[in-house]
Amino acid sequence: MKFFLLLLFLGFFSNAWALQPEPVVQLQVRVLPETHAFTCRYTLTVPADDTATTLALHLDRRFRIERVQAPRARQQRVARVYYPFFADTVQCVQVRYAARSHHARRITLTYSGVLTEKFFTEQVMELSGHTGWLPFRPRREYEPVRYALDVRTPPGYQVLSTTAPHQHGPGRWTFRGRTSAIEITALVGPHFAQAQARARPLVGVAKAGPALARADSVLLRQAAGIIGFYNRTIGRQDSIKGFTVFLPGTNRDAFGLLANATVITYSEFNTADRGDLLILAHEISHKWWGYGSVHDENDWLNEAFATYSSLLYLQARGDTAGYRAELAKRAATIAGTPPLLGFDRTKYDYPMYRRVIYNKGTMILAALHARLGTTRFVEVLAATAARQVSTTTAFLDVVAQTAGPDARAWLLAELQR
Ligand SMILES: [Zn+2]
Repeated sequence: MKFFLLLLFLGFFSNAWALQPEPVVQLQVRVLPETHAFTCRYTLTVPADDTATTLALHLDRRFRIERVQAPRARQQRVARVYYPFFADTVQCVQVRYAARSHHARRITLTYSGVLTEKFFTEQVMELSGHTGWLPFRPRREYEPVRYALDVRTPPGYQVLSTTAPHQHGPGRWTFRGRTSAIEITALVGPHFAQAQARARPLVGVAKAGPALARADSVLLRQAAGIIGFYNRTIGRQDSIKGFTVFLPGTNRDAFGLLANATVITYSEFNTADRGDLLILAHEISHKWWGYGSVHDENDWLNEAFATYSSLLYLQARGDTAGYRAELAKRAATIAGTPPLLGFDRTKYDYPMYRRVIYNKGTMILAALHARLGTTRFVEVLAATAARQVSTTTAFLDVVAQTAGPDARAWLLAELQR
């Protein structure tokens, strides 16, 4: 019995997907919705096999760091540094150790902040993947971590996250899960309207505010349809069992999370329109397409794959004209663009990044689809998703294994064109 319990315990703290041990994050957050303020005690534990002698954490410069604790560290400092990915300055907490260590190391950062108006309304405080409320290791903001999140609120508030609460009592919620470092999510508000699809998988919508609108029920039905399609195709080796569409109403953008959820902040969002339907399908597919680095060409494994997945859904529901029109729109933007392989986003402006990583990547996937046929192509995507492929080289290997060396050579040439 003890052995069984131990296995259950290890089952939570190790994970079947990743080959290496992952960092663990513990978070204690106190929110003050009246003033949109929060305090956070953030502890990062890096695995023992990570033997770097310097650890750095970046944090939004507007937050106030109250304390840095790093046992066994020889030196620590907080400095302002320019972070090119944000094109902005951040606070960098740097901790140095005397020697390589075989112990797992731990840094705790206690800080407080106030959300800017993009991240709250009367109905919600949005602590999410785009809020920038969490520290992260430079260039590793999307690395998967396992986490335990503890949120405290004044009376009369609810907290939602991407998992059901592990525990909750008056003014206190705890959650556990695995997601990328900056995507740990807490939505805090006086009320959330929620609905769930009747059939499995368990797809739900959660909206900040007292009631759902008609468009939200349409959205729920569409999300369930999209997830059903993905579970039969790209996600068939790693299917979605439960999924939440969060509608905080902060009216800014939309993004998908590794943790079986998407956040659609638009206050007007109507999936009866093809454009919004494609956004929803794109964001949901990021559940599988979120392992490529956002800092280099491997971002196409996120964005082009999510875009093409949404087009596959369009095609599967019979909108062939829409599928063709969406491809044609993108094809028109890629003439004269640099090769996808080796694309350095720091050397180009944002529109060129979109043209290469999103559009050219999508056209290459469409061409691969045409070359392999749907059955083989979907097999490639399902294997890529199941293996959490994070580099273009690894993707080329999946293509070689699934469709043969000629397909790999052809794809490599396309990526170099
Ligand atoms: Zn995307």
